[in-house]
Amino acid sequence: MTVKIVVQKFGGTSVNTRELREKAALKVQETQKEGFSPVVVVSAMGRKGAPYATDTLISLAREEFSNLDPRDLDLLLSCGEIISAVVMSQTLRRMGMKSVAFSGAQAGIITDNHFGDASILRVEPDRIKKYLDKGYVVVVAGFQGATEEGEITTLGRGGSDTTAVVLGIYLQADYVDIFTDVNGVFTADPRIVPEAQILQGLTYTEAAEIIQQGAKVIHHKAMNLAREYRIPLRVRSLSDEGKGTLICDISTLTKEGLRILSQEEPVYSIAYRRGLAQVRVNLGDSENGELKIFQSLAQEGISIDLVSLFPEGTAFVVDETVGSKVEEILRREGFEVNLTLPCAKVSLVGSDMADRPGVVAQLVEALKDANIEILQTGDSHITISCLVKSQDMERAIQVLHHKFRLEKAC
Ligand code: ADP
Ligand code: MG
Repeated sequence: MTVKIVVQKFGGTSVNTRELREKAALKVQETQKEGFSPVVVVSAMGRKGAPYATDTLISLAREEFSNLDPRDLDLLLSCGEIISAVVMSQTLRRMGMKSVAFSGAQAGIITDNHFGDASILRVEPDRIKKYLDKGYVVVVAGFQGATEEGEITTLGRGGSDTTAVVLGIYLQADYVDIFTDVNGVFTADPRIVPEAQILQGLTYTEAAEIIQQGAKVIHHKAMNLAREYRIPLRVRSLSDEGKGTLICDISTLTKEGLRILSQEEPVYSIAYRRGLAQVRVNLGDSENGELKIFQSLAQEGISIDLVSLFPEGTAFVVDETVGSKVEEILRREGFEVNLTLPCAKVSLVGSDMADRPGVVAQLVEALKDANIEILQTGDSHITISCLVKSQDMERAIQVLHHKFRLEKAC
């Protein structure tokens, strides 16, 4: 018998209270009634401060033990999702469904041994399938797996999204539902722009670009896997009866009667990334200075973004946490360095930017009118990004959203 499978992932804020878990269970029941076998993936319950949330477990580890071994830290952190899986599975049973809870290891998720940020190598799905065949809803603890040797690992922040998509791939699911605390993917983060509009349909490429530019509504690893393996995603919330955002290929979007935004709108979304530092270096009369700069940063394993190179010097962006390290490395090499932090990158995501000269003019005009200093810009054919001081970030997103009329366009 071939069963049609749907993976349903519930984020931390969707399983935080009994009421929410019961709502989540109703969504699972609906899916079952539609003829699918649901596999549920859960994150740890709640955000920082909640007793079993990941950040609470991290504080426990950090406050008591300054130097906890990464293996033990992963063992500790994996507990948040295991607790959540058991509680969710019991909720499903109380509502009359057959259900079983698995840790990542029990679900057959095999990872490398990169504790804290492990990558899934493969899934051995037989145990899950055995239970699905018997009519059980399988609840899997997200964000974790185990090495070949049986050591428990975690997948890094946002890792439950990856668990859900990878299970979707190995179980050949029809689609993966991502339930979160917003109703879908929006023209901009609705917490920053209250009038942001939901994007009802996105192609894999469109969604991947929004995520790549920083929208954390889906983890970028999960998004890239969904795109590579063509697993449709639906981003939804428990509080909304709407369909949320469907992320799939163009032909399915067309069949569903949804617009292909990148074919119609020059800009359809604004994403942001916080926690950055701008580094400006004066090359002086140093020979091959730019080469020395980039080689020494590469040797230290520091990734850089928004690189601008001109005869007198260079400017680029690094993660805020390595800002002073970069400054130190380059000073040691004899360069004059200027560091600006904290900064944020705000990106317009759209289509054919290179062919639309007006977009840059509009961006500059909007930020100038709002007295926001642009520290640097960068672009690709589908994005234009500008670096601003962190304190200006929210206002920059708001004025750009308005300037490009995104509250009306999408
Ligand atoms: P979960 O715990 O369910 O995984 P996350 O906090 O990881 O939830 O992701 C959801 C958050 O993503 C939202 O609360 C919202 O602040 C943020 N977000 C950023 N950009 C967007 C966007 N374009 N559309 C929707 N949400 C966004
Ligand atoms: Mg998340």
